[in-house]
Amino acid sequence: MTTTLAAPEAILVRYAEIALKKGNRPVFERALARNLREAAKELSPVRVERTFGRITVYPERRALQVARRLADVPGVKTVSPVWGAQSDPTDIARVAKALLDDTLAEHPGPWPIRFRIRARRAEKRFPMTSGELEHALGPQILPGPDKIKVDLENADLTLGIEVRSDRTWLYLRSHQGPGGLPVGTLGRGLVLLSGGIDSPVAAYLAMKRGCRVGYISFHSSPFIGEGFVKKVTDLARALGRYQSESRLFIVPFAEVQTSIRDNAPEPYRTVLYRRFMQRIADRVADEHDYQALVTGEALGQVASQTMENMECIGAATQRMVLRPLLTYDKEEAVTLARKIGTFELSNVPEPDCCTVFQPSRPVIKGTIKACLEAEAKLDVAGLVDRAVAGLELRKITFED
Ligand code: ATP
Ligand code: MG
Repeated sequence: MTTTLAAPEAILVRYAEIALKKGNRPVFERALARNLREAAKELSPVRVERTFGRITVYPERRALQVARRLADVPGVKTVSPVWGAQSDPTDIARVAKALLDDTLAEHPGPWPIRFRIRARRAEKRFPMTSGELEHALGPQILPGPDKIKVDLENADLTLGIEVRSDRTWLYLRSHQGPGGLPVGTLGRGLVLLSGGIDSPVAAYLAMKRGCRVGYISFHSSPFIGEGFVKKVTDLARALGRYQSESRLFIVPFAEVQTSIRDNAPEPYRTVLYRRFMQRIADRVADEHDYQALVTGEALGQVASQTMENMECIGAATQRMVLRPLLTYDKEEAVTLARKIGTFELSNVPEPDCCTVFQPSRPVIKGTIKACLEAEAKLDVAGLVDRAVAGLELRKITFED
């Protein structure tokens, strides 16, 4: 196969929701531009330009890979690698034809391919309207009816054209982004990250709504092994696809658990573990400037997630707790976990602190009164202090 075009000249990034927030728009656009630059960093240095309600990214190299990477960044609607032409009808036709020929040479069929052209003008001084340009191009670039059939309604392949004053962009492929808002535009959340399926999904959903997240994981060493730390580290790294850099706090949790085992009513163990997690996370959030906690809790999914028990758990802190999966079925969480690339990692069998000293008959309808009575026999402040004092902070960067 012969290629007539070089690598794409730029990457066109379209965003959805941030365009609606009128007054805040520059803030959101700057955040998105910064996140795109950060996401591309491993692959190539890039220059980022904000114009005409789009972001144009100019990578020094690996444009196709960079485009795929940018399609994961929250706030992005779609991403297209684009080829450039001079903003005149003749040069546009030349590049359009080369791009179409290249793509058809690699296309598996079936033939004929249903095709359309979609032009858009940001430069109104251009001598043709969008419709005129679309019509004029057809005869100049189409290879013949056995290869291509024009179909405006059900096209399999769309040639997109954006005419600007300085340059015109052409593209045939787009990657779907996650949508939502750019990370960092809506505050900071500390995600209670277990090795399970739900909490990584909760982290993703919080990021997609503009939260910059950090992670806190409770580790019951020596009752469970270092495999747990590796597992949550791997999960945090995989989530770096959506927020390139983050922090992971590993908190020693065995003393809390043995103290609860030795002093509290057995059915309340899990609820009390969770109350301590909230307290400790609350302290870390204070010290490291997170506004909200984020958990993977889903109503009714396990015994500790009945309405009564969640009320007991939530009452351990005044801080806002975000529960993005609150109304999700397990199936829905699993589907999303697969899509965002955390399911396989979560599925690695590895004991987690909740399996340590598990009650044989956990309470289903706990009461706050009973929690407080049980905790009156514990050194709550001391346990929280020592757990916080023992935490280990890891800096996490994305790894594919
Ligand atoms: P997950 O799949 O996220 O573990 P789950 O449905 O298994 O959720 P639980 O294990 O009861 O539910 O945990 C509820 C929530 O509590 C988790 O989603 C997570 O946010 C938090 N959590 C549980 N265990 C830990 C842990 N060891 N470290 C940090 N957070 C935890
Ligand atoms: Mg779990």
